[in-house]
Amino acid sequence: MRPRLHSLDSDHVRDQLAQRTVVANGVRTQPEGEYVLYWMQSTHRFEENWALRQAVLHADRLGKPLLVHQGLDPTYAHASDRIHTVILENARALQRRAESLGFRYQFVLRRRRDDDRRVVDRLAARAAIVVTDRFPTAGIAERTGRFAGRAPCRVDAVESHGIIASGHFVKEEYAARTIRPKIAKVLDLALEPVEDRPAKRALPDRIWDSLEVERLDLDRADLAAEIAACEIDHAVPPVAFASGLAGAHARLDRFCAHTLPDYAARRNEPSDSDGSSRLSPYLHFGQISAAEVLRTVRAAGHEESARKFEDELVTWRELALNFCLMNPDHGKLKGLPDWVHRTMDAHKDDEREAIYTREVLEGARTHDELWNAAQRELVRTGFMHNVTRMLWGKSVLLWTRRYKHALEHLIHFNNKYALDGRDPSSYGGIQWCFGKFDRPWFDKPVWGVIRPMSLARAREKFDAEAYMSMFPA
Ligand SMILES: Cc1cc2nc3c(=O)[nH]c(=O)nc-3n(C[C@H](O)[C@H](O)[C@H](O)COP(=O)(O)OP(=O)(O)OC[C@H]3O[C@@H](n4cnc5c(N)ncnc54)[C@H](O)[C@@H]3O)c2cc1C
Repeated sequence: MRPRLHSLDSDHVRDQLAQRTVVANGVRTQPEGEYVLYWMQSTHRFEENWALRQAVLHADRLGKPLLVHQGLDPTYAHASDRIHTVILENARALQRRAESLGFRYQFVLRRRRDDDRRVVDRLAARAAIVVTDRFPTAGIAERTGRFAGRAPCRVDAVESHGIIASGHFVKEEYAARTIRPKIAKVLDLALEPVEDRPAKRALPDRIWDSLEVERLDLDRADLAAEIAACEIDHAVPPVAFASGLAGAHARLDRFCAHTLPDYAARRNEPSDSDGSSRLSPYLHFGQISAAEVLRTVRAAGHEESARKFEDELVTWRELALNFCLMNPDHGKLKGLPDWVHRTMDAHKDDEREAIYTREVLEGARTHDELWNAAQRELVRTGFMHNVTRMLWGKSVLLWTRRYKHALEHLIHFNNKYALDGRDPSSYGGIQWCFGKFDRPWFDKPVWGVIRPMSLARAREKFDAEAYMSMFPA
């Protein structure tokens, strides 16, 4: 049976929004405001974007037009040519589609770190309400908090990352086994599609022309030249990636047609570069919604593999999102359970096979060629396979004097190089290597009771030679 299509004004949408929205300040709506402002920060799409839906509904309720604003600063952590390119290429696609979808969308590029024009503040000064994305990582929650404290009107932060509305979970979940049954109760409902539409009143040219912002005309701009002019890390170059919804759809279609039938088995082979969906960067930047991905995969059949995929895309991804939303220490040792600290303390003086500095690790110059190949995959391609990612993370625990250093190195490398880095799943995945969401295992030197994973044994489980040959020194 086809699921019903909910209108934007339906009770279903209202209930979803109530569970996804946090009012970020105590300031009232400004009735004399000229428009509702949607400040696009982490959900870089027009479809299935709950913050945009909230902004459209506010605009209609107040009888105001809607302005969609996206900006890009050089000041976010790990700002680089690689990340800027993905964002700008997608923004170009958004700009090209905005008008036909009925949205007034603008993009402003801040090139210099000392540029203090504060575009969003100036736009907010004329707004009735600002709606933005609620996203716990990539510095967005902090930026939203600072902005909301200054804003002259109400600011709503709306989460669109998860399939399940984040408010459905009332506390930090312990593990996949605790979140799974809670997800199962509401997943089908959460997947029911909604009919997106623009606000009823269009933003008049009079307002658009008077906004006094330096919009980047993405259609005409030379993106490489624009990026070269930004004060960001030019040593992390762009990688091959078809940024945007069209690229995400192409990946998803190819995955469903060629990989899904054998996904449950193929996802364990790192040398098989088509063995998983490789959708994580699209999901991270919010270029496609996870709900759309899951609906498409379910419709493609292949029950066993689809179930496995669903467990990754929903259980593990929502668990990581819940962790980051609920636990402000998700990037620190404090985010780990107590048993981890006890066991790390008990084993802090155990003899290590090697100790490596951040520079040696970053340069892929350890004694283990499989680990080095994984690091090179990350640095060169902006991606790392899930299997090698687990081994990569666990191994650094063995090669640093303190687990604090291991955690800091991994977060740094992952967020600096991975296209899907700076995501809730980055922190969920890395902290999992240190025992998060897991239970104590048997006591071993250096590992303590953290679940061990051995690079040597991994070589027997997949084609390590083929993988290493893909990323030579
Ligand atoms: C040390 C370490 C670091 C990681 N860092 C990141 C990261 O920065 N960004 C990131 O998105 N994922 C991260 N993961 C999780 C996982 O490795 C990637 O999501 C997955 O490899 C992405 O490839 P894919 O899109 O082909 O996955 P598929 O197998 O096709 O899975 C589909 C989607 O499910 C989600 N997913 C899959 N596995 C996980 C998982 N274990 N946890 C949470 N979500 C998952 C992703 O959104 C993924 O795109 C990390 C895991 C580890 C162990």
